[in-house]
Amino acid sequence: MTHQPAIPTLTAADPQIAGIVEDEARRQAEKIRLIASENYVSQAVLEATGTVLTNKYSEGYAGKRYYEGQQFIDPLEELAIERAKAVFGVDHANVQPYSGSPANLAAYMAVVKPGDTVLGMGLPAGGHLTHGASVSATGKWFNAVHYGVRKETGRIDFDQVRDLAKEHRPKLIIAGGTAIPRTIDFPAFAEIAREVGAVLVADIAHIAGLIAGGAHPSPVGHAQIITTTTHKTLRGPRGAMILSDAEHAKAVDKAVFPGLQGGPHNHTTAAIAVALGEASKPEFRDYAHAIVANAKALGDALTARGFDLVSGGTDNHLLLVDLTSKQIGGKPAAKALDKAGIELNFNAVPFDPRKPFDPSGIRLGTAAITTRGLTPEHQPQIAEWMDRTIAAAASEDEAALDKIAGEVRDLLTAYPIPGYRA
Ligand SMILES: *Cc1c(COP(=O)(O)O)cnc(C)c1O
Repeated sequence: MTHQPAIPTLTAADPQIAGIVEDEARRQAEKIRLIASENYVSQAVLEATGTVLTNKYSEGYAGKRYYEGQQFIDPLEELAIERAKAVFGVDHANVQPYSGSPANLAAYMAVVKPGDTVLGMGLPAGGHLTHGASVSATGKWFNAVHYGVRKETGRIDFDQVRDLAKEHRPKLIIAGGTAIPRTIDFPAFAEIAREVGAVLVADIAHIAGLIAGGAHPSPVGHAQIITTTTHKTLRGPRGAMILSDAEHAKAVDKAVFPGLQGGPHNHTTAAIAVALGEASKPEFRDYAHAIVANAKALGDALTARGFDLVSGGTDNHLLLVDLTSKQIGGKPAAKALDKAGIELNFNAVPFDPRKPFDPSGIRLGTAAITTRGLTPEHQPQIAEWMDRTIAAAASEDEAALDKIAGEVRDLLTAYPIPGYRA
């Protein structure tokens, strides 16, 4: 068993850490990874993250740095920016945010001041912590108001968005979330933002790869500022970007540096550029559409087995399953599934009567299994394993869970991952 690229020097220098890396690589190869925010990056992306670029400090932007020796970093960052602009069709891109949460804070900093009102999706409805949740800096420093979904449909309630916008006059409206199984209607958000004079920020962290690959409508032309992680469906390294129209370019750049950050992580910038190069290829369009096809097939297979899907299905990579009808909580289900080789997370469902740390649902995504080549034909088998696992969890049948984990491993040996060679 070996991590790819191989890590012989690390193994010799620090076998303890190398051992953990090898164990994690094998774990990622042996499990059906359905965590909706995760993926497998290519070996080229992995290699870029492990380079000497990590040694270099580059505070500032190309041509305006605060340290010398930027002969190669400037063109690197400019290349990443040009690729981001081309893939998403935007005027401006900032590739320096360390991750999605700081990118969102930078977007706020670009347009609002502490105490100003922002309107975002509530956490229980599928919003992200950084959309103004009370425990987040974005909820503590701004006056955050929250919209949700309709109980009957599980879809965003645009009447509520408009009513809240008119009542509270937010300076910023944020569209997007972490548990939205349906297409986001960016034009509808833009219309409401225009009506109240708010800046629309689209947080496409989950769906960036689908947008890049033409499998989800783009917010470009509707949202003035777009934030995204680079490591979810976009399949790059852990990192983030802020895309914007020309009008907000300066404010975005100033918010990232010097507003919030010091030196950019140049090894990450290189890996983002590599991932964007991959995302610009025709194969990536196929990948994005295959993610959606797999999610739809998995949703159909789960529905056929009596699982209850929030909103009744999916348009994207993500499924939110309410387990109430299966008489098990999301957390014990997720723990049993992990033992059975199926990795996902427990998640609140809209209007969840249970507590956030012990909610009613689970969240699934198909980005990672699509990368390793699973197809719609495999989805009924995954649903069958999930059904058996939940039955086994109810009877605390550990042997049944082990048996399923073995079956999962057997299937996956035919679908190797980048990053590990058995
Ligand atoms: C994942 C996510 C983020 C945060 O990204 P981190 O890199 O974990 O900080 C922000 N917004 C949304 C909608 C996300 O899904």
